[in-house]
Amino acid sequence: MEADTLSFVPAHAIPEFLLGEIQAKLAYVDEWIVSAQVQPGQIILRLRQAPTPERSLEIEQKVQRVVTSMARGAIRPRAEVLEDVLDRPVPYRSDPMDALLERHEVSQEAPGLFTVGPLLSRLIGFFEGIFLDLADSFEAPPYRFPTLIPASYLERVNYFRAFPHSLTFATHLREDLDVIDHFAQHAHCKHGELSAPPDSFARVQALLSPAVCYHLYFALADRPLPGGRLAATAVGNCFRYEAINLVSLERLWNFTMREIIFVGPKEYVLENRETARQRMRRALEQVGLAYRVESANDPFFIGEFRKQAAFQSAFQLKFEIRARLPFKDSTLAVGSYNYHQDFFGRSLNITLPDGSPAHTGCVAFGLERMAFAFLAQYGLDPEAWPDFVRQNAA
Ligand code: 5GP
Ligand code: ZN
Repeated sequence: MEADTLSFVPAHAIPEFLLGEIQAKLAYVDEWIVSAQVQPGQIILRLRQAPTPERSLEIEQKVQRVVTSMARGAIRPRAEVLEDVLDRPVPYRSDPMDALLERHEVSQEAPGLFTVGPLLSRLIGFFEGIFLDLADSFEAPPYRFPTLIPASYLERVNYFRAFPHSLTFATHLREDLDVIDHFAQHAHCKHGELSAPPDSFARVQALLSPAVCYHLYFALADRPLPGGRLAATAVGNCFRYEAINLVSLERLWNFTMREIIFVGPKEYVLENRETARQRMRRALEQVGLAYRVESANDPFFIGEFRKQAAFQSAFQLKFEIRARLPFKDSTLAVGSYNYHQDFFGRSLNITLPDGSPAHTGCVAFGLERMAFAFLAQYGLDPEAWPDFVRQNAA
């Protein structure tokens, strides 16, 4: 075993369906962890430096806490596949990231932050066209939302408890001439980190928004829903900090999401979610994407995971469009069909004409991921793309 590797047996047998979820969470367990590999009977961690016996024990105990709290009593999720064209033949097998970087079609600013050039931007524009047509088919008008979201908003929808690990905080210098002068004279960056006295910064009032649809629900809060039902669409920057899991365009700290959002009675939301899926199915057929639509859960943090994931699964609240990534023989979520029941209606007091809380749902697409998955299947040369895409995106 290498000196900077730590390996041990999990305190609780890890069922197959939890391997990925637990591995993803280990990114947040200790700052020394550089990578983690989780197998049913063994956990292998690569660390920044060789640990002392005390540090080894400390890290192992934290990992075991995650394993125990996520694996003990975990219920296998109800796996339902609604569409399956995963085996559709596609011509490309390489990781498009290598070619994209080489051609300067993407450049990395920092982990999870990428600039995308003309090829991907046009492809994203093409997919946006498909999503906007879908929004039009529901007569869903456009909205624009801020990139920041007030801390109090996220608190009100339980976000701190459900997803604390992925939050990104926004702050500014305190309104104090001495503080600002000191910052102007002395602030500097070292190893990509800003160096300044921590008390220069004001308390956090806002965060970078992790989702688009929340903004709409807050705009509708504490009043009756006009007309009793609403469809809307918006695109926005979303932020989810993913620590060492931030790799390539597959997982970004800052990504762009297009959503079509439905608010109203239960049947209205569920029927529209299903209609949206049927319409997207036809569009994805034209695009030639190899994918599957299957039940899924959100990446809740450790303490909340077991209960919330089981709840989402039992009530079939989330389905993901998972595109095939031939180069790594796996899949990537490029979009999701979500139903929140009356969670936002109750939490934010959005009422229907009969006085009951509104139900909500959204259809969400990750733009960078959609384009990335397409390139992973068809490559960077438009000549190899399906006609429909080449004619509209190249
Ligand atoms: P959801 O609300 O289902 O978590 O996210 C909706 C969609 O946003 C996902 O299906 C995915 O396409 C995209 N998305 C979520 N997290 C990330 C991320 O870390 N990076 C990228 N590139 N896209 C993401
Ligand atoms: Zn949403």
